[in-house]
Amino acid sequence: MTDDLRRLLTRAVDHAVDYRDSLAEHAGRPARTYYEMRDALSEPLPERGAAPLTVLEELAERSAGGLMPITGPRFFGWVMGASHPAGVAADWLVSAWGQNAGYHTPTPAASAMEEIAERWLLDILDLPRESSIGFVTGATVAGAVGLAAARTRVLLDAGWDPDADGLFGAPPVHVLIGEDAHSSMFSALQLIGFGYRRVIRVGTDGEGRMRPDALTTALRGLTGPRIVIAQAGQINTGAYDPFTEIIAIAKAAGAWVHVDGAFGLWARAAPSLKHLTAGIEGADSWVTDGHKWLQVPYDSGFAIVRDREAHQRAMTQWASYLPSIGETDRVPSAFVPELSRRARGTPVWAMLKTFGREGVAALVEHHCALAKRMAARLTAEPGINLRNEVTINQLIVDFGKGDAATRKTLTEAVIAGVQAGGICFAGGASWRGDWVMRLSISSGATTEADIDMSADAIIAAWREVQAQRPADAYSRAGSG
Ligand SMILES: *Cc1c(COP(=O)(O)O)cnc(C)c1O
Repeated sequence: MTDDLRRLLTRAVDHAVDYRDSLAEHAGRPARTYYEMRDALSEPLPERGAAPLTVLEELAERSAGGLMPITGPRFFGWVMGASHPAGVAADWLVSAWGQNAGYHTPTPAASAMEEIAERWLLDILDLPRESSIGFVTGATVAGAVGLAAARTRVLLDAGWDPDADGLFGAPPVHVLIGEDAHSSMFSALQLIGFGYRRVIRVGTDGEGRMRPDALTTALRGLTGPRIVIAQAGQINTGAYDPFTEIIAIAKAAGAWVHVDGAFGLWARAAPSLKHLTAGIEGADSWVTDGHKWLQVPYDSGFAIVRDREAHQRAMTQWASYLPSIGETDRVPSAFVPELSRRARGTPVWAMLKTFGREGVAALVEHHCALAKRMAARLTAEPGINLRNEVTINQLIVDFGKGDAATRKTLTEAVIAGVQAGGICFAGGASWRGDWVMRLSISSGATTEADIDMSADAIIAAWREVQAQRPADAYSRAGSG
């Protein structure tokens, strides 16, 4: 048994290391598409089982060519982090130990580690130390948890218990959200019964920041419970709402303030960037991810709520068979929607130990410097237009001149060329009516050399597009 287990897990190690080693070379997109993989893997449910080692070998072999190099050094699609080796190793132990960290007394080590990780996160993010943190799957679910806590508090204050009595017949809750909020916030609103359409959209500026004057106007004349949703790190531009002003306005109106900081909240951990988040500590709930900038493997998101009582009230479940709890006990499941759960605090603990305060700051600052470097390299080439102020790790560019449709065609062609080239990965997004290439730098493995190599690949793809489309070429369009 012991030998079999060792052999099995050791083979998993071999496969993992071989894969990771291949990424310096193969940092572009997977060789095979989803459709090809689906065909290749399709088969009827096996009637008979197989040896674990055989299954593992087959799993590794048959996945080959269908893995996106998200953990590689030149993956710039979306903001995805890169599953740091220390987090992967810790996560393997989480699975091997098989602790069901829903309750603290049956899983002492896992629960204590999560509690320590909670304290460390509040420290490094410099948020109110009395806050509680639910360790969930990601920022989308964390958003739903934070907003559920908000729902509990604002409705209790209005004399209604939403946890016991639901929302039918409850006083209406006004939800105000910036025009450029992330799609996940609408998903969270849908999930907790507020509806994604039943919101008041607040105007933003050119970078996607909520405008304080627009918030003042939107709040005017509203009565009853109110929730304002602000943002730290717009998904395209990386921009931060002006928190000091927004929170003052929201608080004067008696609103709960929730902040989506899925990646952007980590600027708080970096001395040179913390000013971007000034005033954010005045909010009531915050969301960030472990699996983005902190490099924890998926799934790792944090729902941070100042009002610990509302947080627990919105999430807690009770049953006679669950252990009783002491005065100062922290029950991990009391802050999240689920009961049975993996020990999510463990890889977070491991990553914070691995980086330390200084290491997190250095990584965040490094990525922001790399984004500036990429922007400088790209904008030195005629016809590449930078479309945002590069303040953190995000940049968006489009290609060529002329109307939006022309630039979209060119930008799509460059993106396709970059993806086909296999040097790096970048995707597209819509921004202010234009199609742009979005570059998010969030992998711990990325170096300056990776940025230079990738910038060269993007510029080469752009030159190729111009050569293939002389009618749309920058020089011609530029002169016309
Ligand atoms: C990624 C992201 C989310 C959603 O986070 P998940 O962990 O994918 O659920 C929410 N908001 C912003 C700004 C993001 O970048």
